Amino acid sequence: MSNSQLFELTQILQKAGLADNLTQQVQMIVDGISKAIGVDVCSLYRKTREGELALLASHGLNANHPVVIPKGRGIVGRVIKTKSIINLIEPDKQSDYYHINRSQEESFNSFCGVPLVHYGEVIGALVVQRSRAELISAEQEALLLTLSLHLAILVNNLPERLDQKQLDNCRSEGISGAQGIAIGRVALREELNLSDAPENPCTDIQIELQEWERIKIATGVELDGERNQVKETLGDAMAAVLDAYQKFLYDPSFHARIESEIVQGKSLPWAIKQTVHYFSEQFLAMDDPYLSARHEDIEHLGDKLYHVWCGNKPKITALEGNKSPLVLVGNQISVSDIVSLPSAQLKAIVCRNGAALSHIAIFANALGIPAVMGIGEFSVQEGETVIVDGDQGQIFSRPSQALLQEYQKLIDERENTDRELLANAQLPAVSLDGQVISLLANSGLQADIMPSLRNGADGVGLYRTEIPFMIRQSLPSEDEQVQVYEQLVKAFSNKPVYFRTLDIGGDKPLPYLPETKEDNPALGLRGVRFTLSNQALFLTQIRAIIRAAENRSNIHLLLPMVSSTQELDSCIELVNEACSQLQAEGFQVMRPKVGIMAEVPSVVSMLPFWRKKLDFISIGSNDLSQYLLAIDRNNPLVSKFYDVLHPAIIMELKRIVDTAKHCELPLSLCGQMASDPISLFLLLGMGVRQFSMSSSKIPYCKSLIRSLDLDDARKLLNAVLMMDSADKIRQEGTLLLESISQNNITLDRIYLINDKIR
Ligand code: PEP
Ligand code: MG
Repeated sequence: MSNSQLFELTQILQKAGLADNLTQQVQMIVDGISKAIGVDVCSLYRKTREGELALLASHGLNANHPVVIPKGRGIVGRVIKTKSIINLIEPDKQSDYYHINRSQEESFNSFCGVPLVHYGEVIGALVVQRSRAELISAEQEALLLTLSLHLAILVNNLPERLDQKQLDNCRSEGISGAQGIAIGRVALREELNLSDAPENPCTDIQIELQEWERIKIATGVELDGERNQVKETLGDAMAAVLDAYQKFLYDPSFHARIESEIVQGKSLPWAIKQTVHYFSEQFLAMDDPYLSARHEDIEHLGDKLYHVWCGNKPKITALEGNKSPLVLVGNQISVSDIVSLPSAQLKAIVCRNGAALSHIAIFANALGIPAVMGIGEFSVQEGETVIVDGDQGQIFSRPSQALLQEYQKLIDERENTDRELLANAQLPAVSLDGQVISLLANSGLQADIMPSLRNGADGVGLYRTEIPFMIRQSLPSEDEQVQVYEQLVKAFSNKPVYFRTLDIGGDKPLPYLPETKEDNPALGLRGVRFTLSNQALFLTQIRAIIRAAENRSNIHLLLPMVSSTQELDSCIELVNEACSQLQAEGFQVMRPKVGIMAEVPSVVSMLPFWRKKLDFISIGSNDLSQYLLAIDRNNPLVSKFYDVLHPAIIMELKRIVDTAKHCELPLSLCGQMASDPISLFLLLGMGVRQFSMSSSKIPYCKSLIRSLDLDDARKLLNAVLMMDSADKIRQEGTLLLESISQNNITLDRIYLINDKIR
């Protein structure tokens, strides 16, 4: 070791000794070591009493979440077990490699781990990593060894109680997949994932190709079985969600790619792994969150194929003889895992991977249990108690008694209020002064149908037809579309249904249509701009909707992103053309009511010109607000400035409502604003009498309306129209919310619960 390095080492430890607190101290040490020996990553792990390795600090690893490596796992686990330095390149090729999710660890190609030994006992490890695949030199190894002796003393002196406290109420943050709160014992899904498949060459290409056919058939049979199981437990609509796996399995391009990998000499598991990786990356690269989330479907299918190849099924532990509430935890959870559990016991789902629009999240919503997705690396033991907070997308492991009591109180209060809300959900929403308000559901998946009916929806105010298009691998034919639309029409036979024609293009591409690159997709070829430039596709869809409607008079055609008279006229011409064609073909059809989404700001000035052409309008407040404020609410850099209570939005909405009234055009609102209490009051004050929202919000909004005198809503609106900031408007609106909550026990409870959670 050179003198200068020794000097630097002493300096690092001296400086760290002056730090304000332990967290800062260990961080200074790992930062200093990385700099001194020129590595990209330096991490310090401490062994916990349970034998896991908790990351105390890291320079270079993305560790914005609690990182805990389970006991005995990973190359770090080997460092602890062997009590010796392990210095190697390409760590991901090692059989005991343990990948820390979301750490970006995969970009580092060299690894050197040094045990921290204190009085003969290994109490942790110091790990350095480099992007380059280059071994740490003997001199650097010696330096790390010397450092480890000092660090062992420091790490050992971290007070045990502080360590324990840090672990208590350990909060891990993910994304909310389904709302709700639950407490339960962890049931771990034991993983055997495709990512574990080793890179082996294939010995006989013909045998491997036959094996692929066998695995494909066996997997197809298993999927059929699961579909039936889901159909029995959750109904037809949810079973249809599983079709995505079948579609991938029998997709010719999926098949061709696996065959080509095998022909190039890869073993079957490796060929599946490469193919799944290829398609998964394609989905992940998509901007649209729904399509992006489909990468999980292909990964689930990959895991399933791998299980079939290995000849075993994933096991769920902590189940035997256990009758207490369960929280299912796994890297990826599949629908078959869910249906294999007693539904009365399953209280929540926690997925280390996954997004808000994962199929598992959709299933959790259908089951009415909370789900937290994308939680990343976090360590829980089988059978331990955790709190799952699906509203905030977080879980608490090792909860203290006080936290458990607090959450249990919330759960009990919620159950009472939900029971009361649901009991009244089928009754109409009539305000205190006798006005009847219609609350319809926003929908897009067949899986939404049952919850919408259960939540008392007065119809479907926005059916996003692009969603059934997106979950397929190719354009649906007219007949296939008729089948999908018919299900909705039949389920809501005597209630109004608003079919929005395809709102794709821009940031919602269809995977099977050629992609167009646009600098500014939100202002680009989307909605009717896209469908009018693909008229055959548009006409087919309109024909399918009219056919599915049969002779019903309550079917509406809703046109997205209309901004000019030419566009509107072209759309109307196509609707008329579709009706004439169908009549000529002998179908008994009725022309649906035709209306537009009022979501492009130009629309409000055009309504007087269009009054005779339109049967209704529906305000799309999501797009309208982002275009008015010029804020992309999905852009994290500016989303904090997006506020639907911005005075300009309130004034613009009032202008639209007044214009529609003047033009005698029926109006509704189907953006997210509809279920925000203060926005709802203001819109009611303006005279809006029909809303469409996520069906889960309907029982609550009905209850709000039943406690409101519309005169108070009008007073609130008048006061708010004089205000120049969203904060002032929110404050004023909260006063009304508080006052009506006090007169309604259920609302009062919700108000208090929401307040506590916030
Ligand atoms: C809207 O823009 O308000 C709307 C309901 O449509 P989407 O969110 O599907 O764009
Ligand atoms: Mg929109």
